[in-house]
Amino acid sequence: MSSVPSVQASPEVVVRHDWTLPEVRAIHDLPLLELVYRAQTVHRATFGEPEVQLCSLLSIKTGGCPEDCAYCPQSARYRTGVKAERLMETGEVLQAAGKARAAGATRFCMGAAWREVKDGPQFDRVLSMVRGVRALGMEACVTLGMLTQDQARRLKEAGLSAYNHNLDTSPEFYGEIISTRDYDDRLRTLAAVRAAGISVCSGGILGMGESVDDRCELLRTLANQEVHPESVPINALVAVPGTPLEHREPVSPVEMVRAIATARILMPAAMVRLSAGRMQMSQEAQLLCMMAGANSLFFGEKLLTTGNPEYAADMALLEGAGLRPLEPKLETSSGS
Ligand code: SF4
Repeated sequence: MSSVPSVQASPEVVVRHDWTLPEVRAIHDLPLLELVYRAQTVHRATFGEPEVQLCSLLSIKTGGCPEDCAYCPQSARYRTGVKAERLMETGEVLQAAGKARAAGATRFCMGAAWREVKDGPQFDRVLSMVRGVRALGMEACVTLGMLTQDQARRLKEAGLSAYNHNLDTSPEFYGEIISTRDYDDRLRTLAAVRAAGISVCSGGILGMGESVDDRCELLRTLANQEVHPESVPINALVAVPGTPLEHREPVSPVEMVRAIATARILMPAAMVRLSAGRMQMSQEAQLLCMMAGANSLFFGEKLLTTGNPEYAADMALLEGAGLRPLEPKLETSSGS
C-alpha cells in the first residue's frame, strides 16, 4: 500500500509526469495569492483536513564525509568545527527514537554522512536500527548516500519506510555545488530505492545561488519521475561558516512559499516538508508555507530533548492554528 493518499478526482488536481520548464515557471510566477490559493485547493482536494506530520531526524554518523557538497558542514573538506564521529550503537539510536515517539513524531529519520553505503558490519547495524524503529511503531527513514539495488532490497526487507536522497537543485546548477558525484548518480540511487518498493523522499535546497529556473527545473525533475516522490523536503540554505556558501544571502519566505506551492501543485499527493531553514522563518511565514501546501515539519533533533522550548513553541504554533499532528500510518511500513 502506498504511503500517500489516493488523489481524488478533482478538476484542480492534475497528476502529470511530462511537465515542461515554461509550464512550471508559469505556475511558480503566478501572483502570490493566486498561487497559494491554487496550491491550497489542490492540497484540500487531496488530503482533506489539514494535518501535519512531525518528523524527527537523528544524525547516526556525523561528519568526516569525503564528498564536497558546498552547503554541508559535515564535509571533511571544510573547517566548520563539526567533528567526525563513529556510527552510533543501535541501542542509543533506539533510545532516541523512543523519545521522539513520546514527543509525537511518527517518522524517525536517521542520517549518516557517507558518500555511499558499504556492505559490512556498519550497514548491518543500520539494518538493525531500521528493524528497531519499526518495532517501536514508527515509520523509519534513512539517508546514507548512494545505494546499490541489492542494498535497497536489504533495507526494504528490514522494513524501511522511506529513503531520503535529495536532488538538491537543477541538473544544470548541480556542478556548481558538488563535484564529487553527478546528477545521474543521484537519479540511479532514486531508481534503486523505487525499484525496491521503498518510498522516495527527495527534494532540494533554496538559496545556494541558483536561478529561479534552476528551482523550477529541480521541481520539474522530481515531478517527471515515473512515480512522484512520496515526500519532498524543501530546505532553505543554512549558511554555515566554513562552508563555501557561508556568505549566501538568505532566501526570503516568499521564495520558500513559491517553491512549496509549486511542489504541491506538481506533486499533489506528496508530503511536502518544510525542512532546514525553518528556524530562520517567522511563525507567520511558516504558517503561510503550510497554507501553500507544506504538510510536514522537520523538528531536527529537537524532539529528542524533553522540555525543549523551541519544540514547545512549535507545538503551540500548530495548536493555535488548529493544525493536528498526523497519526502514524503503520500499514505503509512494508511499502508494498
Ligand atoms: S554527502 Fe551528505 S554528508 Fe556528505 S558532504 Fe554531501 S550532504 Fe554532507
